[in-house]
Parts: sequence; C-alpha cells; structure tokens
Amino acid sequence: MMEKDFINDSLIEELLHNTKEDAARVREVLAKSLAKQPLDLEETAVLLAIKSDDLKEELFNAARELKRSVYGNRIVLFAPLYIGNYCINDCKYCGFRKSLTTTVRKTLSDSELKEELIKLESLGHKRLILVYGESPLYSPEFIAHTVRMCYDTKFGNGEIRRVNINAAPLDVEGYRTVKSAGIGTFQVFQETYHKPTYAAMHPASTRKGDYLWRLNAMDRAFEGGIDDMGIGALFGLYDWRFEVLGLVSHAIHLKQTCGVGPHTISFPRIQPANGLDLELPYRVSDDDFKHLVAVLRLAVPYTGLIMTARESEAIRSDVMEFGVSQIDAGTKLEIGGYTDNEGGQQLKREQFQVGDTRDLDSVIHWLLKNDYIPSFCTSCYRMGRTGEHFMEYAIPGFICNFCTPNALLTLAEYLEDYGSVSTKETGYSLIDRELAKIPDERKRELVEKRLALVKEGRRDLHF
Ligand code: SF4
Repeated sequence: MMEKDFINDSLIEELLHNTKEDAARVREVLAKSLAKQPLDLEETAVLLAIKSDDLKEELFNAARELKRSVYGNRIVLFAPLYIGNYCINDCKYCGFRKSLTTTVRKTLSDSELKEELIKLESLGHKRLILVYGESPLYSPEFIAHTVRMCYDTKFGNGEIRRVNINAAPLDVEGYRTVKSAGIGTFQVFQETYHKPTYAAMHPASTRKGDYLWRLNAMDRAFEGGIDDMGIGALFGLYDWRFEVLGLVSHAIHLKQTCGVGPHTISFPRIQPANGLDLELPYRVSDDDFKHLVAVLRLAVPYTGLIMTARESEAIRSDVMEFGVSQIDAGTKLEIGGYTDNEGGQQLKREQFQVGDTRDLDSVIHWLLKNDYIPSFCTSCYRMGRTGEHFMEYAIPGFICNFCTPNALLTLAEYLEDYGSVSTKETGYSLIDRELAKIPDERKRELVEKRLALVKEGRRDLHF
C-alpha cells in the first residue's frame, strides 16, 4: 500500500494565520454543524478563530445542542487495561520510553491477566481498551490471544462484551490477525500532526520515528478488515489549533478513502509522567481545552469523542456537556493495577498520572446526578452495526431508537449486580424518567418488559 501524506502543513498554517473572527461566518458554520453536516478545514478554522466571549458562548451552546441531538444524554463507559510496557521507542514525553531505566517493566502473564479481568468484571465493567507498548513481545498473535482471553473469562454475571485496542501500527496482515479475535475499535494516535515537532519528539532511529508509517496506520487497518478506527493527538506537544485541523484532515481523509470516518477521536492532554522533563510551551489551558472539545464536536458530528481519566473530575464535569460521548472510570494504569494497587498511584509503573481517581460506582453516581445515562452498551458492534453500516444507522438518527433503550438495560444490569444502595436508588429514578421520555408507546412497553426481566435475573437483553 502506497503511504500517503494527507496532512497539508502549509494550508493548515495559512488557515490558522489568515482566518480572523467573523461573527456572520461563525453563525453560518454553526448552522451547518447543527444540520449534522461534517465541517471542512476552512470551516473548522472559522470556529478555532473565535476569541470573543459572546461568540464562544454561541459555540458552546451549539456543541451542547448537537451532542444532545446525536448522542442524547448517554455516556459510554470503559476501562483501560495495560497488558505490557516494554517498548522499542523513545518518545520524549512518555513514562514507558526505552531509555528510561527507572520504569518498572512488566507484561501480564495469562494468570495475571485472568485475575485483572475477574477484578474488572466483579466491578461491573463490560467494555475494555487493551494497551501495549511497541515491542516484538506484543505481536498481532499475542494481542489476539489476550483479546480472546478477555471474551473467554467470565465471573458470575460478569463478562467483557467489547474489547478495543490501543497499540502500535501494524501491517495489513497484522490487523487481519487482531480483527479475527473479534476486536471493536483499533486506536493509533498520531500524537502530533506537526512534522517538525513529531521529528523532535520521536527519534528517527526508532520505529515510531516514521511519521508516514504511523499516519497511514488506519488505512492499513481498514484494508485488514477493521472499520471502527480510533485516532487522536497528544495535546501540549504543539499548537492545539494545528492538531485540531490535523485531526479533522485525518477524519476527512478516512471518509474519502475508506468511505467511513473515524469511530472515535481522543484528545488527551500531556500529564505528569515518570521522567517527564520537557519544556512544554504549548500546554493547553482549561479554557482552550473546552474550546477544542466544542470545535471537534461540531466538526465531526458522528465521531465519538473520548475523554479519559487523565483529566480531573472538575474538568470532566466542565467539558463533558460539549460533546464527549465516552469516558473511562475506576481507571488503574499500572500493569496489574486493578488487583495490585497498594499505596495508590505509582508513576514508575504507569505511563502518565491519572487525574480522576474515583472508582466506577462513584463515577456512575456522579453521571446519574448530572442527568447522564451511564451506558455499557456494546450492541452495535455485536449486531454488526460497525463502520459504514453503523453510519447508515447513525446519520438518520435511528440510533436513538437503540442507544437509549440499550443504555437503560445495561445500566439496570449494573444496578442489580454491582451498584451501591444510593447508586441503585438514583439509577432507577433516572430510568423511570428516561422511560417516560420514550415517545413510542410500544417501544416503551418493550423496554419496560426487558427491564423487568433484568430484575428477574436475565442479562444481556439488548436491541
Ligand atoms: S508513547 Fe508508546 S511508543 Fe512511545 S515510548 Fe511510550 S509506549 Fe512506547
């Protein structure tokens, strides 16, 4: 496969330099987004150029409205599970880089992985993202093996129903091998789309030093049969506006080349990490972080936005309403950290510091209190509604006919099997409110029947 460079640096720099705040143009672009039309680079630059508080408020209001109209008030929950942190690369910002001798290196054995899975299932998790350093140890066959272990490990009513992957780029055959294990999304973050910064952060002597090999990772994934693709950038390495236009360029490229845009976009901000001693002039402020999340929401209406526990509870509370559709909860990043986390966070064992350290039940209770429906739904993936097929459902808005009912059913499962007393009480009052909102009487009765079956002990009753 010919590697393509679809990041037009000079166009991005020109747009950032020449696009000035223009209220009338901003309103035209917001209207296009609210009509659920993806934005092009020029239109996205118009939203990035907003400076005044009034226009920012209009931007945030539009992002809130679009999020509600496409995703409703659901927030999908997952947990990251680090499998191994040996790595052949030397990324300057990473606590796992090979030259860092103070990092505790480990790969979970099968029995240790099983223990982690049983722990995660006993907490109520149903969706995982498995994370690996880049190393010959973590071959496509090894990754596929660990994925199968996730699906094969059951504990009481506990089971993992969707496994996503965050790992190094593979070749087409490698993706085919991993896909055959039944994964959902494969994530590869470009880290930075700015080529000079990329070269400065990733030594050319390392595998990750190859910008184009990484940039074309999702094109190869799609050819390997993976149509739920996850992209992302590490905010704080270079100008956040450049990275937003890089991400939008990538989304447009995938839509044009593969016929389907990214399934998810992640926008992690650099956090403290073992051995992190970089000058970071491009750190993203909390205000700019809200701005970038709102612009991403409006630029790619049908792409899920993932905000991780890197961010604190306060920031998550502040930013969630602008477009985030997925978060992790009860997160442990140490290898073996779900079963062995005496003494709290240990930076030498994790890639970066976690900002939101609350447990799963506390996060679920917080979501319920803020009128969000915590969801463990995995239905689309298991019903074959992925990639282009997912979009066929998502775009006309039918997805609401599935998402909210499925979210309520997975929430009820959680409340019955794992919820604390107060979370269970708060959860069922939200379920009653949401049931009353389902306009179609027959659908509402169907959901009520299935909720009753969940109370009787039935599980996994999705639409
Ligand atoms: S960012 Fe990834 S590839 Fe780079 S050193 Fe860390 S684990 Fe390795």
